[in-house]
Amino acid sequence: MDIELSAEDRALQLEVRAFLREHAFVPGSDPQKWRTQWFAAAAAKGGWDVPKWPKQFGGPGWTPSQHYVWDKETAGYTLPLDSPFGLVMLAPILMAYGSKEQQQRFLPDIRARKVNWCQGYSEPGAGSDLAALKTRAVLSADGTHYVVNGTKIWTSYAHIADWIFCLTRTSDTGKRQQGITFLLFPMQQPGIEVKPIITLGGRHAVNMVHITDVKVPVENRVGTEGEGWTYAKGLLQHERTGIAGVSRSVVALAALKEKARGVKYGKGKLFDDAGFRAKVAAVEVDLMALEFTELRSLAAAAAGGGPGPESSILKLKGTEIQQRIQKLGVEAAGLYAAAWRKTAEPIAGGPGFARDSMENYLGGRAATIFGGASEVQRDVIWKNVLKNRG
Ligand SMILES: Cc1cc2nc3c(=O)[nH]c(=O)nc-3n(C[C@H](O)[C@H](O)[C@H](O)COP(=O)(O)OP(=O)(O)OC[C@H]3O[C@@H](n4cnc5c(N)ncnc54)[C@H](O)[C@@H]3O)c2cc1C
Repeated sequence: MDIELSAEDRALQLEVRAFLREHAFVPGSDPQKWRTQWFAAAAAKGGWDVPKWPKQFGGPGWTPSQHYVWDKETAGYTLPLDSPFGLVMLAPILMAYGSKEQQQRFLPDIRARKVNWCQGYSEPGAGSDLAALKTRAVLSADGTHYVVNGTKIWTSYAHIADWIFCLTRTSDTGKRQQGITFLLFPMQQPGIEVKPIITLGGRHAVNMVHITDVKVPVENRVGTEGEGWTYAKGLLQHERTGIAGVSRSVVALAALKEKARGVKYGKGKLFDDAGFRAKVAAVEVDLMALEFTELRSLAAAAAGGGPGPESSILKLKGTEIQQRIQKLGVEAAGLYAAAWRKTAEPIAGGPGFARDSMENYLGGRAATIFGGASEVQRDVIWKNVLKNRG
């Protein structure tokens, strides 16, 4: 699908293409050297190392359609943009609600990728119903610090994180959402214990984090005590839009077709099979429809609105499409995919992508849950879109 871009957006598209051709990852290049050079070149472009940041904080300050151009052009490349937790999730909260001191203290290190952040929202017993969270922060008598106790769960990359942004409960009175406070603290300190959780695909990405009597200075509180819910919630819609990964699915679908063209099937190739092609075509049609939904959401954002309920449609359909493509990848690998745990080597006679396809498929199941479970997104869509249509 191609949309009519304005002259400026088209100019940016050509500039991004030329930049990627020159600087994006080439297999075999020294990764460390490449990273440093890439960041220097991207920063010199006026903030392409922090593409989602506004101009006043050093980003390119792009319009929604320019972001679309960037996402689409970069989807097929390996870029050192690093973990989204600091860059995409915490940074906008600090820009909007953090003090000047907090912005000066944390944003440069996030931009330089010096500090890894993790997101401490979910708890055992507080996932979809996040306002049920119980991790408690008690203000000291002299008002200088909080003492935090509780357990966070599913904390992605907590095992390699330097800092955590954490939702804590500071009050039980009033609405549950009102007593939540947003705190920042280092992970490497006594009182923090990180336990790995190994997921279905055999990966270690998520963790349980026990927090015991951890002291957090009041200057590490973002905004006002009790208002943390408001800060955290606004960003969830952006998180959902990102998880949809529409441009990445376009690239993944093209890669799937390429794989199917190389797999032997009967007297020809798998991609010659009408049944397989029909499944690919069905995903392609849905993906095209989702691209239009993404464009509608960008148009609304360009007109001044934030991501609305369409971010739930994007998250729900986007993750379903990712999973359908992953499943077709397993189908293309056939029985060879089943041996994925037994050996790191491709099985003789099988396609080289068999192991990856199974790992991606199993790992990809989590997308139904993270960033807001599918059932919850369906509820949001019903309440905000379908209900009013009668
Ligand atoms: C791979 C992965 C990474 C994650 N990373 C992080 C992270 O870095 N930081 C973090 O804070 N959290 C993280 N999470 C947690 C994630 O946000 C939660 O798993 C999610 O919010 C769902 O919560 P839950 O697991 O407690 O499930 P629950 O909320 O208990 O849901 C269980 C089931 O009940 C359904 N359900 C719940 N409520 C309703 C309802 N009202 N109506 C209909 N159905 C409902 C759900 O759809 C789901 O099927 C991660 C999760 C995963 C899987």
